[in-house]
Amino acid sequence: MDEMWNRSLESLDRESIGKIQLERLRLTVRRSYERVPFYRSALKGRGLSPDDIRSIDDLRRLPMVSKDDLRESYPFGLLAVPREECVRVHASSGTTGKPTLVLYTREDLQNWTEIMCRCLFMSGLRRGDVFQVTPGYGLFTGGLGFHYGGEAIGATVIPTGTGNTERQINLMRDLGTTMIAGIASYALHIAEVASEMGIDVKRDLQVRKGIFGAEAWSDSLMRKISDVWGMDCHDIYGMSEMYGPGVGCSCSCGGGLHIWEDHFIVEIVDPSTGEPVGPEEEGEVVLTSLTKTAMPMLRFRTRDVSKILDAGKCDCGRTHLRIARVKGRCDDAFSINGVKVFPGQVEYVLMKYPEVGMNYQLVIEKAGVLDQLTVLVEAGGNGMGINSSQSLERALFRELRSVLGFQPRVRVLPPMSIERSEGKAKRVLDLRKK
Ligand SMILES: [Zn+2]
Repeated sequence: MDEMWNRSLESLDRESIGKIQLERLRLTVRRSYERVPFYRSALKGRGLSPDDIRSIDDLRRLPMVSKDDLRESYPFGLLAVPREECVRVHASSGTTGKPTLVLYTREDLQNWTEIMCRCLFMSGLRRGDVFQVTPGYGLFTGGLGFHYGGEAIGATVIPTGTGNTERQINLMRDLGTTMIAGIASYALHIAEVASEMGIDVKRDLQVRKGIFGAEAWSDSLMRKISDVWGMDCHDIYGMSEMYGPGVGCSCSCGGGLHIWEDHFIVEIVDPSTGEPVGPEEEGEVVLTSLTKTAMPMLRFRTRDVSKILDAGKCDCGRTHLRIARVKGRCDDAFSINGVKVFPGQVEYVLMKYPEVGMNYQLVIEKAGVLDQLTVLVEAGGNGMGINSSQSLERALFRELRSVLGFQPRVRVLPPMSIERSEGKAKRVLDLRKK
């Protein structure tokens, strides 16, 4: 059984978890109804009052909240407390138009720190570690979420935030960083830049633990990062609407991510109808917050694709249910001549091949009337000769064809030929929309 940050809550029996959830759900619904006009009219529209929530199953009768609802309520529309009681504001990385704001009371920040501590501790962070936080600080929830969790555990936190990769590497070397937090694709980018600086991350640095989130990353990418860094990797899940990172985290048993059920209720629904799917079926993750006071979230549609795993007890000793690692976002999936493709399916195949480098890109174009998917892959190391790159192309083509069910084009390119970014990697280039 694993060591835990908060053993009494992390290994609570299922019956007690159910009781806590119902009690907190009823309180959350009542407060939302009484204090937030948006929720009151949405519940009334369904003929519901807070007294109608008598069991966890009644959750399904509640309306859902989308990112658009949050955007339209900008800035303070969904607040359930006077603005004066809020001590922090974050905003989610909106792609267009208004950002979505999230506000926090002091109690919210304490709860967020608690769940971050559980995730970080699960991923190996301890007092004595040197913990480098590479996600952005500021309105984005990543940086400060990891920061306060790391400090509460008692690690030495280096708040580098995002970017300036050479400085990140120098600090890792000079301060003896033992654990990093960040975005998975950025971990590979750091390793590449280090190699250009003549530093082998495995040999010359002491980073042996990593916790990554904010983008979907496949099991094989996780193995690749582990190999390149000689690191134990964990996957953390969350979003600003639910405090930030920390909603759940993968334990060492390899069976998905534990979701902290004393703070959230997780449902999986069909993204097109919003109806619940069957047990262990894949769909959109919908989360209800149970402890948020400033901005309670009832049935928030995350657009993330996952499934609930068998609720059997995990070998780590934690009793909170597990979801599969997020496969992608409902909106990330693209369609090639009617066949649905998640970038993660392609990544899974690519990262199995050690000859494949750190970066890849999926380009979708029209070839006549048909859609054509081209998979651009960088060769690893110092590149490869024409013969080996052709044989790699053939091997990748055969395996991708069998996974995807159609014929993609595969091109192996020299190392470093795909444009880099220090934030989330740009994996899909859909030229059909232009
Ligand atoms: Zn576990």
